[in-house]
Amino acid sequence: MERDDYLAAIRPRMNEKRYIHTIGVMQTAINLAEKYGANVKSAETAAILHDIAKFSDIDWMKQIVIENGLDHRLVGWGSEILHGPVGAWIAENEFSIKDQDILNSIRFHTTGRANMSTLEKIIFVADMIEPNRTFTGVEKLRDKANEDLDKAMQACIRHSIQFLVKTKQPIYPVSIECYNDCVGKEQ
Ligand code: GDP
Ligand code: FE
Ligand code: FE
Repeated sequence: MERDDYLAAIRPRMNEKRYIHTIGVMQTAINLAEKYGANVKSAETAAILHDIAKFSDIDWMKQIVIENGLDHRLVGWGSEILHGPVGAWIAENEFSIKDQDILNSIRFHTTGRANMSTLEKIIFVADMIEPNRTFTGVEKLRDKANEDLDKAMQACIRHSIQFLVKTKQPIYPVSIECYNDCVGKEQ
């Protein structure tokens, strides 16, 4: 499938705001892929599909996790955490994507993980800095993304963890593994 086919496929599955966000992630991810030598077509496809499960029914997502033996740590978490892994499942099973790097980029776009590939970092960072994001500090993250992908990745996961602590939200263990990896702690 080509860009327009993927875009047409995702449009009815999300609201306008999420679709506009997705276009922003796609453009940002393409720019980062060109800059950091990743496969541009893979970045485009992963970005378009990254939030495909954002509006999926929570009980259906839990069922997908259990029936398909996805990471057992996902059980008990909400759609904030489930939409990445379930999105990867949809990409593989509904869109026949076989490229594991694309699937992992969708799977880990919310939490990150230790030892991320270049494409995974690009999708994670692009999701946070795309032009429609307006949170305080986003400009600094954009500057970092222009300098160095690993520095940007570290700044983004630090920002995300800080936000979660500040808002008293539980932190998914894989997010912590990502943070430790990014700040240089061997596990
Ligand atoms: P979006 O789908 O484009 O809105 O962005 P993300 O997929 O990156 O994040 C979705 C939501 O998950 C956001 O509200 C994040 O703050 C939240 N989130 C990210 N990591 C964690 C985590 O470790 N634990 C929890 N509880 N929420 C998280
Ligand atoms: Fe997301
Ligand atoms: Fe997103």
